[in-house]
Amino acid sequence: MAETGTLSRRQLVHEYEAVIVGAGGAGLWAALELARSGVKTAVLTKLYPTRSHTGAAQGGICAALGNHEEDHWEWHMFDTVKGGDYLVDQDAAEVLAKEAIETVIELEHMGLPFNRTPDGKIDQRRFGGHTRNYGEAAVRRACFAADRTGHMILQTLYQQCIKHGVRFFDEYHVVDLLIDGGQTRGVVAYRIADGEIHVFRSGAVLIATGGFGRMFKITSNALSLTGDGVALAYRRGVPLEDMEFYQIHPTGIVGIGILLSEAARGEGGYLRNDSGERFMERYAPKLMELAPRDMVSRAIYMEIREGRGINGGDYVYLDLTHLGREVIESKLPDITEFARVYQGIEPITQPVPITPTAHYAQGGIPTNVDARVVVDEVNTVLPGLYAAGECACVSVHGANRLGTNSLVDILVFGRRAGRSMAKDVAGQGLPDLDPDASEPVRAEIEALRGRESGESVNRIRTELAAVMWERCGVFREGAGLERLTGEVRDLRHRYANVKVEDKGLVFNTDLLEARELGYLLDCAEATVAAALARTESRGGHYREDFPERNDTDWLKHTLIYRTDGDPQLRYKPVTITRFQPKPRVY
Ligand SMILES: Cc1cc2nc3c(=O)[nH]c(=O)nc-3n(C[C@H](O)[C@H](O)[C@H](O)COP(=O)(O)OP(=O)(O)OC[C@H]3O[C@@H](n4cnc5c(N)ncnc54)[C@H](O)[C@@H]3O)c2cc1C
Repeated sequence: MAETGTLSRRQLVHEYEAVIVGAGGAGLWAALELARSGVKTAVLTKLYPTRSHTGAAQGGICAALGNHEEDHWEWHMFDTVKGGDYLVDQDAAEVLAKEAIETVIELEHMGLPFNRTPDGKIDQRRFGGHTRNYGEAAVRRACFAADRTGHMILQTLYQQCIKHGVRFFDEYHVVDLLIDGGQTRGVVAYRIADGEIHVFRSGAVLIATGGFGRMFKITSNALSLTGDGVALAYRRGVPLEDMEFYQIHPTGIVGIGILLSEAARGEGGYLRNDSGERFMERYAPKLMELAPRDMVSRAIYMEIREGRGINGGDYVYLDLTHLGREVIESKLPDITEFARVYQGIEPITQPVPITPTAHYAQGGIPTNVDARVVVDEVNTVLPGLYAAGECACVSVHGANRLGTNSLVDILVFGRRAGRSMAKDVAGQGLPDLDPDASEPVRAEIEALRGRESGESVNRIRTELAAVMWERCGVFREGAGLERLTGEVRDLRHRYANVKVEDKGLVFNTDLLEARELGYLLDCAEATVAAALARTESRGGHYREDFPERNDTDWLKHTLIYRTDGDPQLRYKPVTITRFQPKPRVY
């Protein structure tokens, strides 16, 4: 194996009935379903599976188990719809709330070590926007394993996959999606260890590649969350849905964005401004700190803007000191350790400085409730393509996701994806595949590696993240978004000449970071165009020039299509079954 050289022209072709891209919670549960159905399945992942971002999830996974107090899936469904500012597709929210219950029970049966109540049931805590009896008061709905819930989920599912003989291709970076003649035919992957190109021929491909928080400067997301699957689908003609709704989480570590889970507020933590006041009183008198995230993030910024940040600065306090050592150490051990390590703060005795941080992609690849990708306003299915998890938009989160609803989403719809794929591949042969299918992407990668002069990846990425955070974060307005449109367009032009220093084949992370920057630019382009067009405020999309929600004109989903010029926007109706839109007060 040479350290430098050109990519071998040999095309290694693998054949699988089903291919899954991504080994987070969504991909793993889909793989498990397929393996149980006896379908020959490959899971491709650019990271070692247990390093997927699902493992960083802290706070919990919600299900209306009612282990502490009365609860019903209908209440969970209502909270999800209201929390999403009525942009949620209610057929999907119903599936989510109902199947959350069996999903959590199944996880328990797989051996997930949940915290327990004194009488041995799964323990549950409060989380933002989850209420009893349609908004009466906060309810305990989030199941958890200390503040390491995602870690436990990932380990449990990975063990199950190994037990059922799922075939993993670890550190295979998927670089293209093969769709031809309206049919999915497989994927192209770049093996990170040696730069070899591998083609996976398959008539059923699931995209489960997670989010793209790395397009923002301050984010809770791991470095790997660069929207690969989302961008690859977009490049292949699949529209992206509701990209303008990116969630900014209220409580990140100041300056670096590492998350301090909402579990801290779920366990009773307070937010305080410079005068020590619990300022959420002014914004959400009933739910206070447990209002939905979009509202809490805006409230924090309002306090800062009006000079009530700590010492007049740009942060406020998360105060846990009244909870006591025992609660903090048994229920919030990891996040309090973050405060000690990154901030030198002792949360048992001192308040923790926090500011909002970019957290979660509410939009993404449009799917129906069976995780089949749909490509237009009338939900026409693209044969053989599926999406689940954070990269997908089903849409259960609408304009704002409730905390702990993502872990449920990835598992409920990951499982449904596996089931749909197993059903669809039964009795089907593999699709035909052009013998040169991997040539276009191989040529792109060759050109990138071979370029001798040009700008650095890091410079373009840093600029992108800074302008996105500045003009497309918690507050947005028309002029800023127009300017941002031009800035992103310029960065795309500059990216066409990006240069990678490493010319080698072995673990060339420089090259892969350049590819990932291309995906982030695609996600940013779609986000900004959708945000500029939507002249209202709803959930996580807040326009200072249009501060009200406008159901007459905007109770609809955005679909954005890539073109050679500016992206094209279309809209599709929201599915409303049980709950008519109402003003959203907490
Ligand atoms: C710090 C943090 C805390 C959170 N806490 C909670 C919580 O308490 N409760 C909750 O409900 N939600 C929480 N969330 C959100 C939730 O964890 C995520 O939305 C969810 O885990 C995403 O799962 P996923 O399966 O979609 O993708 P991920 O777990 O992100 O996995 C993505 C997978 O795709 C693979 N991949 C990506 N690109 C490629 C490529 N080009 N080729 C091959 N493979 C690729 C990666 O290797 C990885 O295996 C949290 C998120 C963060 C960041």
